[in-house]
Amino acid sequence: MSKPSSFPPVYNHEFQQASENLRRALPLVNQHKTPVNPVNYAVWYEYVSGDNADLTNAIDTRLHKNEPITAEVTQYLYEKYVLMGMPERMDRTNSGLKLVVDNTLSNINKAEATATQCSSGLSQSQSLLENCDDVEQLKYLVGEILSNTQQLTQSSHELKSELVRSTEEIMKLREELEAVKHSARTDGLTGLLNRGAFDRELRHLCDEKDMHFSLALFDLDHFKRLNDSFGHLVGDKVLQYFAAMLADVSDDIHIAARFGGEEMAMLFLHSNLEDTFVIAESIREKFANSRLKKKGSDESIGQVTVSVGISHIQPNDTPRMLIERADKALYKSKAEGRNRVNFL
Ligand code: GH3
Ligand code: MG
Ligand code: MG
Repeated sequence: MSKPSSFPPVYNHEFQQASENLRRALPLVNQHKTPVNPVNYAVWYEYVSGDNADLTNAIDTRLHKNEPITAEVTQYLYEKYVLMGMPERMDRTNSGLKLVVDNTLSNINKAEATATQCSSGLSQSQSLLENCDDVEQLKYLVGEILSNTQQLTQSSHELKSELVRSTEEIMKLREELEAVKHSARTDGLTGLLNRGAFDRELRHLCDEKDMHFSLALFDLDHFKRLNDSFGHLVGDKVLQYFAAMLADVSDDIHIAARFGGEEMAMLFLHSNLEDTFVIAESIREKFANSRLKKKGSDESIGQVTVSVGISHIQPNDTPRMLIERADKALYKSKAEGRNRVNFL
């Protein structure tokens, strides 16, 4: 199981689960003789929560080899698996950009110095030309003028190719920056928006007064049972399949996200409860009718269904209030037997 990767990390554990994680994480921080600081605590908290598969694997591999998990190791694990390498990637892009700007400035300065030098050479030749009546000196001056002009052309050519190189470098950095931004917003398993990005989107919508939108929460039914029967990898594939169905309906005004674990969320902008209900109901029905099979075999994994809860924005709603109503409606769908949609 992997948690919806978010930068910065978002923790959705309920009070009780978080306290249980604390109870299990603290002895580990002490056992490895590392100080109880936020970095060490975050690493062991994520480890005991079991939500961060890559981090768990990295730690387990070290433990199997009897390698100590020192403060340096936790710092490394923290940056790589909790912060998803983001600070390093941003740093790299920043220093790349600084290098390009510095280089460009130095090339412009060089070209400017050459231009100043040539221009003073040309002025000198001009004043000498005014009083010149000697053919040999004339030839010499024309030669000087020619050489200054050639130097100017050469220097502007060089500057041009340097600028072309810098532009290419900037384009590459821009792509890298876009990739960093994209992975900071995207859930690694499903490719949907991650929880952090979803929360920001929702906060923004709630702040925009007069914005008219609904929220649907989708929770896959009896997912634990599916994992237990077919394994987590099959569970992951089902999550990806369902996420792809949401991605199919998402566009500028239908925003789909991994809300946490086997729960997804969708924001329906400019939509009332009825419009949202119709789309959610069609997703539910299509999913329930999917004939899912294990990859590479004909073995069916049986019917997998989803329960849905919908809420609509009310004046002065906070994100939390809107989510709580959708959650209540979802709970109703579960209580009524699952594989259905309710709204509140
Ligand atoms: P319900 O119908 O009441 O929602 O039952 P449920 O089993 O779906 O709900 P429960 O909350 O008991 O269990 C959720 C399960 O989802 C447990 C967890 O292992 C699984 N899960 C969460 N995230 C992932 C993931 O990324 N991959 C896989 N394979 N399973 C996940
Ligand atoms: Mg759930
Ligand atoms: Mg569930």
